[in-house]
Amino acid sequence: MAMAYPLNGSTREFLARRLDLFVDGRMQRATDDGRLEVSDPASGERLTDIALGSARDIDAAVDAARRALRGPWGRMTADERTRALLDYARLIESNATLFTEIAVLDNGMPWPIAQSTAPFCAMFLRYYAGWVSKIAGETLPSAGNGKRPNELLAYTLREPVGVVGAITPWNYPFGMEMLKIAPVLATGCTVVLKPAEQAPLASLLLAELAAQAGVPAGVLNVVTGLGETAGAALAAHPGVDKVAFTGSTEVGRSIVQAAAGNLKRVSLELGGKSPVVIFPDADLNQAIPGAAMAAFLLQGQNCVCGSRVFVHESIAAAVGEGIAALARQLKIGSGFDPSVMIGPVISREQRDRIEALLATAKPEGAKLLAGGGRGTGNGWFVEPTVYANCLPEMTIVREEIFGPVIAMQTFNDGDLESIAAQANDTVYGLSGSVWTRDLATAHRMVRMIDAGQVGVNCHAAMDPSMPFGGNKQSGWGREFGREGLDLYLKTKAVTITW
Ligand code: NAP
Ligand code: MG
Repeated sequence: MAMAYPLNGSTREFLARRLDLFVDGRMQRATDDGRLEVSDPASGERLTDIALGSARDIDAAVDAARRALRGPWGRMTADERTRALLDYARLIESNATLFTEIAVLDNGMPWPIAQSTAPFCAMFLRYYAGWVSKIAGETLPSAGNGKRPNELLAYTLREPVGVVGAITPWNYPFGMEMLKIAPVLATGCTVVLKPAEQAPLASLLLAELAAQAGVPAGVLNVVTGLGETAGAALAAHPGVDKVAFTGSTEVGRSIVQAAAGNLKRVSLELGGKSPVVIFPDADLNQAIPGAAMAAFLLQGQNCVCGSRVFVHESIAAAVGEGIAALARQLKIGSGFDPSVMIGPVISREQRDRIEALLATAKPEGAKLLAGGGRGTGNGWFVEPTVYANCLPEMTIVREEIFGPVIAMQTFNDGDLESIAAQANDTVYGLSGSVWTRDLATAHRMVRMIDAGQVGVNCHAAMDPSMPFGGNKQSGWGREFGREGLDLYLKTKAVTITW
């Protein structure tokens, strides 16, 4: 499939290279010889292969990261570190075509979304570059130890937490890695990154560009490999001070257990089953495409996916038909076709998993309005799918599908509390949106929806300045924004007397 498109020279060159682990500033062979094939989900064809890092490779990478903390990186001034982040951002922007093509090939994402990867990474780096010189402690009015204020100085230092273990999923390569890398660099930490086996190429490119931008050896290490081996070793490693994980809730639980050994810090960005609530006074010209794309973006393989749509019964037919009509129109195919809006899902296993979940819908009483099939082509395609007449206990309403699937439920003229209770009837709490023209409805619903993020007349708006993370089983902590820095800093309280 890749060969049918005139790939950029830099992309061809990258795919022709032997890819190993990136440790201590250079590509290094893994201790074991095992390799893992990387394939294009739009065609199933092989792209390249990667090294399978082992627990011993994780040890070596953690050692390199520990040494780098004490090296030139730890002695850089804030201004020098700011420049390193800005240089890195510029270098990424000058490789935008390479990023776009690798994102399409490795993940299957449609071209316009793939094109957002380099600008997203650069924006994130610039945002955090601005924070580097503003990370500061406080002077405090302490009068401890029986001293008067003029006999004592009390203040806090904000220090890097140390060596970070980052573990990322495959659904938005480049972006998912940069969410960890930018605050790591801004705070002066170092990192060992274990990317998802199904989209590992972005992380190697990001590590090489960081080195080219002047980030010292050992600061950003990448160990490709399997979650159960390399990932588990990283989460459990006694030399890792903090683990930053994005992925499924199930693996998130195993990360927490693995981290208990040395009680390392843990932040988790996990799954979701986010509600989209459409009131009868909403502007349906906005709400219908808004709800459709909230669920179908990235083939529904996004944690903020608006997979549960709640509609007032008076407009349920019109909204259902509107979303279904859009679902039928969206072109499915390879991301290299610029008119394609729906690419393949990541793998055959994922396609089969989605289909198994869809197979429960009809027997449990849901009504299919659109989709349900595979679409054409050799890759792992799933049509955008819309089910109406859904009920709270149905499998497609409860399980995170991670595919382009909407389950519609209705509500009636009951009070807002009961509508919010319907929206909150899930173990997750990542995102949600409310569609209405009424200010009181909007503000009251915003307060009642139990999620880390709520949109009004928009779904899942993302900006580096806006904290992002989940409630309930959607995670621990907030990435993005100033709060995102706190995950990578520790506070030291200092008292000086004379
Ligand atoms: P996953 O299976 O949980 O994998 C995530 C990462 O964890 C991968 O690098 C994986 O390696 C690794 N891993 C697997 N088992 C491990 C173990 N025992 N110890 C340590 N690491 C392990 O998730 P996924 O299938 O890649 O991604 C889909 C999930 O991510 C969805 O639930 C989605 O909602 C969630 N997600 C959340 C956010 C958010 O910000 N909240 C964003 C994106 C995705 P392998 O690749 O080798 O399995
Ligand atoms: Mg996995």
